[in-house]
Amino acid sequence: MDSSETPVVMYFFPFVGGGHQIPMIDIARVFSSHGAKATILTTTPANALRFRSSIRRDQSLNLPITIRVLDLPNDAVSPDSSMSAAPFTDTSVLREPFKLFLAQNPPDCIVIDVFHRWAADVIDGLNIKRVVFNGNGFFSRCVSECIGRYAPHDQLGSDSEPFLVPQIPDRIELTRSQLPPFARNKPGLPDKIGKAEEKAFGVVVNSFYELEPKYVDYFKTVLGKKAWLVGPVSLCNRNNADKTERGQAASVDEQSLRNCLSWLDSKEPNSVVYISFGSLARLPPAQLVEIAHGLEASTHNFIWVVGNIFRCAENEGRVGDDENWVPLGFEERMMEMKRGILIRGWAPQILMLEHGAVGGFMSHCGWNSTLESVTAGVPMMTWPLSAEQFYNEKLITDVLGIGVQVGSKEWVSWNAEREELVGREKVEAVVRRVMGGGEEAEEMRKQARALAEKARRAVEEGGSSYEGVDDLISELKSLRKN
Ligand code: UDP
Repeated sequence: MDSSETPVVMYFFPFVGGGHQIPMIDIARVFSSHGAKATILTTTPANALRFRSSIRRDQSLNLPITIRVLDLPNDAVSPDSSMSAAPFTDTSVLREPFKLFLAQNPPDCIVIDVFHRWAADVIDGLNIKRVVFNGNGFFSRCVSECIGRYAPHDQLGSDSEPFLVPQIPDRIELTRSQLPPFARNKPGLPDKIGKAEEKAFGVVVNSFYELEPKYVDYFKTVLGKKAWLVGPVSLCNRNNADKTERGQAASVDEQSLRNCLSWLDSKEPNSVVYISFGSLARLPPAQLVEIAHGLEASTHNFIWVVGNIFRCAENEGRVGDDENWVPLGFEERMMEMKRGILIRGWAPQILMLEHGAVGGFMSHCGWNSTLESVTAGVPMMTWPLSAEQFYNEKLITDVLGIGVQVGSKEWVSWNAEREELVGREKVEAVVRRVMGGGEEAEEMRKQARALAEKARRAVEEGGSSYEGVDDLISELKSLRKN
């Protein structure tokens, strides 16, 4: 067999938190389904548990995919304490085992999460092809890059004064208050992550061409970056077990899941709002109260994932207090009226979004949630909080026309105190607007469904993302020294 026929060997080194780890595992699975020999490098057996079942299922289908747990030094503390590992979690304790493993078993390429900030030097030092994954889509990357380059917000009178993002294909308005602090204060300075990406072989992006074509072109031609589009990767979860266990296999309570699904089965199509703020976000209890009142007043059905909020909310450490924020009798009333369900814990999000009864997604606009909503053809109620979520909101509402803004105005770090609340009347209004069946809502739904269809086609044989995966594999093969 000549070397171009032996499968390419690819390593995938996900970060330790939900919104970055989940898509990277899917990316590894996608590459293995295209014939690459994929190995997922992970930190501890406990972390591997979160995705081991889906990998075993892939292996039973003879897909070439494995998990490799890196051996931590004896006295080292594991960096992966929870699904909510934050962007600044330091994983450098893995440097030596990582380096040793790579040096002894060099792959054709390693796909690495940007948040392992220390790892680029190690990989480059070993002359291994490094492909970067940063978790975002093209639109937000272009917006971020242009704000960094041209600093349109530098001379504004106040944080709430709107400015236009220069040079990009659409007319996009933002305010300084919607930018992350590093972009607000020091325009033009590339950070360590940005620099490491510049020297990489390229980037893999969980997106598909038909979703944001102008921004894919802009990214590649104007910004001059090399990218392979491989998404939406959540679509590699084809069976119910994969969908149910995605992200947190160990925590899914089968009985509650069955109850929840049969509750959904009893509802009319598109009549339920699904509400979740991702794996990390925290909202103050006072804000949760406003959401509860808004939902109740809207008269629409809902599933509200609150577990991930409590784990990190203000009452952190006071286990048992997590009922206190709920308005008196709210949950019981909602249950009795068959109006709504609260999920305390990890929800199988893609399973929920794909259920025909779910007709709207109130979301913090994390990129995975955004793509998952698009893939399910569900319009959104956008409530960005931090990261690049305010940029994603603009894509959803202003460019794609598949969502309505709830009215979140201020970027606040996931772990900081949020003072300004979104009032219950705004929550009620936005739910009525998206779920009420009016002309605007129907138009959004139509648009979302059309995108969902394109998403599915993109990952099928001959589709744009299918080819993106094959392109990277072929390029790696062609670079092999015979
Ligand atoms: N997720 C889930 N169940 C939950 C919370 C989150 O399955 O209860 C998944 C969700 O489907 C998505 C990821 O976690 O794939 C969250 O990523 P996103 O980029 O939306 O937000 P982040 O958590 O990074 O803020």
